[in-house]
Amino acid sequence: MDHHDIAQICLNGHCINSAYNKLPQFNQDFCDKCGEKTITQCTECGVNILGDYENGVMAIGFEFHSPEYCHNCGKPFPWLAKKIKAAIEMAELE
Ligand SMILES: [Zn+2]
Ligand SMILES: [Zn+2]
Repeated sequence: MDHHDIAQICLNGHCINSAYNKLPQFNQDFCDKCGEKTITQCTECGVNILGDYENGVMAIGFEFHSPEYCHNCGKPFPWLAKKIKAAIEMAELE
């Protein structure tokens, strides 16, 4: 039994909704900060992105940070892949 909700995150890594199932009223097809498309699944393997953990310890209101790597396939998510690419292009920065 998985107690994680699903996280909805834009392709630039802005967390839109860390409780996709529990709070569907906050779902957005596009990011309100940068206009990018949002995803709820790993673009590599299609597994759901882990959102809030619902066991009473990490409740709603806990600050959610977008994960950087997929927990299932280990591939960097698109927002991290962009950062890595940018870091390679500008070697000293970040
Ligand atoms: Zn965004
Ligand atoms: Zn994956």
